[in-house]
Amino acid sequence: MTEKFTAPEIIALKRDRKVLNDEQIDWVVDAYTRGVVADEQMSALAMAILLNGMERHEISRWTDAMIRSGERMDWSMLDRPTVDKHSTGGVGDKITLPLVPLVASCGAAVPQLSGRGLGHTGGTLDKLESISGWQASLSNEQMLKVITETGGVICAAGSGLAPADKKLYALRDVTATVEAIPLIASSIMSKKIAEGTSALVLDVKTGSGAFMSDPVKARELATVMVEIGKSAGLNIRALITAMDVPLGLTAGNSLEVKESIEVLAGGGPADVIELTVLLAREMLELAGIKGVDPADNLKNGKAMDHWRRMIKAQNGNLDAKLPVAKEQLVIASDGDGVITRMDAMKVGVAAWRLGAGRAKQGEQLQLGAGIEMHAKPGDQIKKGAPLFTLHTDKPELFDRAKEALVGAVEFNSNYQRLPLVLERIG
Ligand code: URA
Repeated sequence: MTEKFTAPEIIALKRDRKVLNDEQIDWVVDAYTRGVVADEQMSALAMAILLNGMERHEISRWTDAMIRSGERMDWSMLDRPTVDKHSTGGVGDKITLPLVPLVASCGAAVPQLSGRGLGHTGGTLDKLESISGWQASLSNEQMLKVITETGGVICAAGSGLAPADKKLYALRDVTATVEAIPLIASSIMSKKIAEGTSALVLDVKTGSGAFMSDPVKARELATVMVEIGKSAGLNIRALITAMDVPLGLTAGNSLEVKESIEVLAGGGPADVIELTVLLAREMLELAGIKGVDPADNLKNGKAMDHWRRMIKAQNGNLDAKLPVAKEQLVIASDGDGVITRMDAMKVGVAAWRLGAGRAKQGEQLQLGAGIEMHAKPGDQIKKGAPLFTLHTDKPELFDRAKEALVGAVEFNSNYQRLPLVLERIG
């Protein structure tokens, strides 16, 4: 096959701050997927994009080229509207777990293709794998069966979905080019559009525990993703939400599953319930479903019923005990008064060091490892009272986790809660 371009000429254009045209973008994404553009050439292009940016049209075209690198799923045979949410991830962000069955219980179909955690933020699939027997990888036929029978499916994105992104994301991870907004936006949106959902709510986190800690950048990312979604015909909205404090009272895989089940049983921490219900309302509005309040379905057991059916349909055994770490260490509060700050990043790093997260793709996790928080900002605590419980199978990991928590908590008498939702876009 004769190639239309060469990689060096495309790299040079971006290096010199030029705008790539549709043909150049289509070629470079396709040629990289085919192995004609080498990893070192794509690394140079990714760095040029990180440094010099891309125009909105270039980002949309790049997204489209990544979608066209693989299959696009189609749910038009379902008798319900499809809607999904994507979170950019944060510490203790287990919202997908109660949210998917909740929205399914309100009459929508939720095809949620998820990923695994890397670094200090957890991944939905890792969390669900704490449930004995639960199967993350499904064929397209199995996915259709689960969603038809239960209204929701949470599973791993198959290898046929946006393969260009899979290759590029792994490369970005080792070349310090993850942080480029055009590359993040196109990476997330190519997978969500290829997944075939008609409506999408984006939960873009900002604050110390978020991937985009700077609110200006989080806003830009949200705006770009909403534009890409709109131009692909999606009903889409983004919420910018606070991630300066961990969500809920747990960070770590099985600990978060336990907390999510509490929410589905009508209890659980107030911030997890609030964000779950809020996102469910947004999703139902975009899906055009009226007359049902998701808050009711958390209390009346309907969401729990959908959860049980979804987990069972993927071979999960909800009667089996969730993994519990072999060792626990309670950390007492060294301050007295109202907690005014609890740094999400520090808590996330500590949970990660205890074995809840991985440093490299493919690394084995300790499913029971993580952190329980006994108090959160706004709570009054006495010096010496339990503040955190650290969980791990390997007690030699406690010291490094404790180091990560130094300075994580501040006390004062004036506490002002930040709103959970900072902005809505779209
Ligand atoms: N999540 C993704 O899927 N892609 C990115 O680039 C960043 C976060």
